[in-house]
Amino acid sequence: RQNARESLYIVLNYAKNFYQQHLHEHEEGQAVGLSYFRERGFSNNILKKFELGYSLDKWDSFSKEALEKGYSSEVLEKAGLLIHKEGSNSGGYDRFRGRVIFPIHNVAGKVIAFGARILKTDKNQPKYLNSPETEVYHKSEVLYGIYQAKNAIRQQDHCYLVEGYTDVISLQQAGIENVVASSGTSLTTEQIKLIGRFTPNVTILYDGDVAGIKAALRGLDLVLEEGLNVNVVLFPDGDDPDSYVRKVGAEAFKEYLRKASKDFITFKTETLLQDAGNDPFRLAAVIGDVVNSIIKIPDAIKRQVFFHRTADMLKVDEQMLITEGNKLLRKQQ
Ligand code: ATP
Ligand code: MN
Ligand code: MN
Ligand code: MN
Repeated sequence: RQNARESLYIVLNYAKNFYQQHLHEHEEGQAVGLSYFRERGFSNNILKKFELGYSLDKWDSFSKEALEKGYSSEVLEKAGLLIHKEGSNSGGYDRFRGRVIFPIHNVAGKVIAFGARILKTDKNQPKYLNSPETEVYHKSEVLYGIYQAKNAIRQQDHCYLVEGYTDVISLQQAGIENVVASSGTSLTTEQIKLIGRFTPNVTILYDGDVAGIKAALRGLDLVLEEGLNVNVVLFPDGDDPDSYVRKVGAEAFKEYLRKASKDFITFKTETLLQDAGNDPFRLAAVIGDVVNSIIKIPDAIKRQVFFHRTADMLKVDEQMLITEGNKLLRKQQ
């Protein structure tokens, strides 16, 4: 088992070097991949820090060379790099073709998977392709950028959580180094515990679109249960952290974070209240929903603070919220 994992790390590292070399040294890599990254404003330093790469637009440029180097088609397939072709003895074809490559590292810095972005949007193909689940890659337990961010997270006792690969990279380039991405999936308990190893303080920076708001609301209760302190920042509609920091620059971006940051309960209450309008039944549902989030907070003093604050926002009696909360807690035990 140990050996099987070790051989995956080795071939994944080989692939990372292969893609990286093609980005910087191959004609197609430079013309297509490197100019794509340049257009996005990525510096050479940041390309190196994240070990970004490029996969040629061919069926088997990677696997052909890897097989020649002595890697078995079995290990390439197990690493998620090769897709087996039924009834063929040539092995198969490369999973990643004609895409820019984002290696995904574990906390210790080993490459465990790849994300790969298409260069031009195309309805018939997914924008991002990711490695499948493998013996070393369990998507739900991974945060993109954790290896590059962990020291900064510990030092600043604070972590920014974004949606995408390019959000992590752009923020790092802007000097905001305590940032990781959930990579588009809704947040899992394992991911939250991973952040919790370095800090209890998290600010969620989700895209300023409906999906981003929904994702933020979904992620929140889980994060609370783990006892983390959560704040939320939403971006103007159509922007994400990457596009916004490029638009306004690092200083204005940090200023925006300070101004727009809200604790999660306030964020949730405001968002739900806006949706409910004046409908008394929907308002009642909002109250239940908010109380349900507050009781997830393990710390009794923090719970009290939030009961106090949301009572004002919801224009209801604080004692009533507390009674409601206690009822829900008893029901759950
Ligand atoms: P870009 O700026 O390059 O367009 P993004 O990170 O802003 O990328 P989003 O559409 O906001 O892209 O998605 C956020 C994240 O969700 C991506 O970084 C990626 O990890 C994941 N994702 C997006 N689309 C897909 C897809 N089709 N398949 C798998 N994962 C995806
Ligand atoms: Mn989005
Ligand atoms: Mn983006
Ligand atoms: Mn985005």
